[in-house]
Amino acid sequence: MNKDEITQIEERIRKKLRSVSLDYNVMPAGRVRFSGDGVIKIDGLRNAKYGELLDVGGVAEAIVLGLYENEVDAIVLAEEDKVSSGMIVKATGRIVEVPVGKKLIGRTVNPLGAPIDGLGPIKGAKRRPVEAPAADIADRSKVDTPLQTGILAIDAMVPIGRGQRELIIGDRQTGKTSLAVDAIINQKGKDVICIYVAIGQKASNVASILHTLNEFGAMDYTIIVCSTAKDSAPLQYIAPYSGCAIAEEFMYSGKDVLIVYDDLSKHAVAYRAMSLLLKRPPGREAYPGDIFYLHSRLLERAAKLSGKIGGGSMTALPIVETMAGDISAYVPTNIISITDGQIYLESELFNAGVRPAVNVGLSVSRVGSSAQVTGMRKVSGKLRLDLSQYRELSVFAQFGTDLDANTLSRLEHGKRTTETLKQDVHETYPVENQIVLLYVAMKELLKDVPVKDVTKFNAEFLRYINNAYPDIIATIRDTGDINMETGLAVEDAVNEFSDIYYKK
Ligand code: ATP
Ligand code: MG
Repeated sequence: MNKDEITQIEERIRKKLRSVSLDYNVMPAGRVRFSGDGVIKIDGLRNAKYGELLDVGGVAEAIVLGLYENEVDAIVLAEEDKVSSGMIVKATGRIVEVPVGKKLIGRTVNPLGAPIDGLGPIKGAKRRPVEAPAADIADRSKVDTPLQTGILAIDAMVPIGRGQRELIIGDRQTGKTSLAVDAIINQKGKDVICIYVAIGQKASNVASILHTLNEFGAMDYTIIVCSTAKDSAPLQYIAPYSGCAIAEEFMYSGKDVLIVYDDLSKHAVAYRAMSLLLKRPPGREAYPGDIFYLHSRLLERAAKLSGKIGGGSMTALPIVETMAGDISAYVPTNIISITDGQIYLESELFNAGVRPAVNVGLSVSRVGSSAQVTGMRKVSGKLRLDLSQYRELSVFAQFGTDLDANTLSRLEHGKRTTETLKQDVHETYPVENQIVLLYVAMKELLKDVPVKDVTKFNAEFLRYINNAYPDIIATIRDTGDINMETGLAVEDAVNEFSDIYYKK
């Protein structure tokens, strides 16, 4: 073959190639090549986009989670046995949406927004995409309104503002869920809509939370988004985003919302399971590289909106479970760095009967104190310092050395303050009662009450002052402050009550 012939052949081949058109729309559908544990790998689907909703054989929906040269990876939002290899997959051009709006209030729904409480279908609700960009900086305003949890230790030392993200972190069985549930219960009559998102929890746990919320009349303003441990990893994975979309609808219509994600450790585990099945490269603790983005894009959506766009807010209380108190593990540190502070609950304290088991030293709220009411700021100003001094001194006092009078009185004060901060589960205090309790403790008016009696004394005193001096309570409530005159009135009331209490 001479050179000319070769050139001719080459020319013919080139011509042929030019006539081949690569029309991507020729193949609008692909086929499931692999299916297992809620993930699928699809061949031939050329026009899918990241995050897009796919239709799998007309029986299930899936979300695109990976785009490769010859393959699309997706997670299935249905029972897995519905999907099998060979099924036809079509891109829908939509992304996952959930029903949102007032019709959901009082309902328990699954992560796709379908009711699972047996109270009938949710008809005609508006829908919203589960993934959405967070509000811009220009649309946000400063956190300036308190979100009262009704828990004295929290509202006094780690105050939460509307629009803040505060992490609740601690080992197993340290009262994390109870704290969040109590915060929801305390929103009664405060015009705050609450959303509790259960991620990978035992169904019986969720049922008992629903029961508690009903019991306290909290389902009148609460929505539960529930994914249980039985649900597939993809359903657990989208649950918090669905809850967030439901919250956003209220926030953008000017309402205040409180959302609890219980818990993001299980969320991370569900995402890791999916990622490993999709053969994504594992990183630290076998989590995929984008684990930070998983939670940052969720928590960034909590916001306090500026007045220009309605002034609504979304306060987020994500929960994270630690192992043996290790808050420096991968997922906890990530989430600590995303949130505006954390409430650290400690097993040791919990087991020693200090409940709620808040570790004061390791708990912070970076923005909430600017939202505290004046009276609370006044009475709680020295609280942290007093408690940390007490802790230091009590270690020292264990050596049994002779202690001077001042040290002894610091110790006695610390013991009584610690008792004052103890609070039973589901027993929340309105802010005016919190101020009274702390005022009494910080003025050291409990000196003559034996330490073991403090809790009972406080509870009965609150009842007494509310009944006998409703005007004092009303003044504190209405002004949000405790001035000298009111303070003296509270002191008189304590003295009066002590006389009655000890004569009984
Ligand atoms: P898990 O790790 O299992 O999710 P958790 O950290 O969410 O546990 P909870 O379920 O809230 O913990 O609480 C564990 C137990 O402690 C419950 O029985 C609850 O009633 C009790 N408890 C929680 N807080 C208090 C409290 N302040 N006073 C008394 N008991 C409490
Ligand atoms: Mg829990």
